[in-house]
Amino acid sequence: MNIAIAIDGPAGAGKSTIAKLAAKELSFIYVDTGALYRAIGLCAYKKGIGSKDVPAILDMIKDIKVELAFNDRKEQIVLLNGEDVTAFIRTPEISMYASDVSAIPQVRAFLLDLQRNMAKTNNVIMDGRDIGTVVLPDAKIKIFLTASPEVRAKRRYDELIEKGMDVNYDDVLKDVVTRDYNDSHRDVAPLKPADDSVVVDTSKLDLEQSVAKLISIMKERM
Ligand code: C5P
Repeated sequence: MNIAIAIDGPAGAGKSTIAKLAAKELSFIYVDTGALYRAIGLCAYKKGIGSKDVPAILDMIKDIKVELAFNDRKEQIVLLNGEDVTAFIRTPEISMYASDVSAIPQVRAFLLDLQRNMAKTNNVIMDGRDIGTVVLPDAKIKIFLTASPEVRAKRRYDELIEKGMDVNYDDVLKDVVTRDYNDSHRDVAPLKPADDSVVVDTSKLDLEQSVAKLISIMKERM
């Protein structure tokens, strides 16, 4: 029987960085489910479809294939119609597209089996917004990782600057707040802690402390 660890929380809480390191320590596979919504957002963007044009997006997903795979370094890559689009999904524009398309119930349903199948065949740490509540409600360990919007925006801003992107902090903060609102107010699978999750606030923790805290929660419960 495989073990699943669900990590949910708002944008920029550090889920991916922390989960990746924890997965390495525990020899689990790390699955970043946001990449799936980003790939669908990217697809709509490239086709010139508006992020809120629901009929066009529903039409679009009839003919697309989204897959997760792992490269030689065991890092997750996301394939859109067989093409590796990992390098193109992290821009602020695609973040907003991902947030909008993720509110469409049929888009969520389209991605559900793919996510569940990953957990059937591997020990996983899966991060997202609805992993503990919808995708893997029986996950052995559920963590809801959060931090203040300002701290999260600063982390996201530093990350984007490091990647050489031309962004300013106020725009990133605005994006974070908008995405939080969208993600927690949508009708289907809104962002919220599962009843049986452990809530961890990383506002005052650095990366090392956050990873240590998560690993200690995981080891305690495994
Ligand atoms: O985690 P990340 O920021 O990459 O996710 C991008 C967007 O995809 C989020 O803002 C959210 O709207 C959506 N998402 C989701 N459910 C998940 C993962 C991501 O709705 N499990």
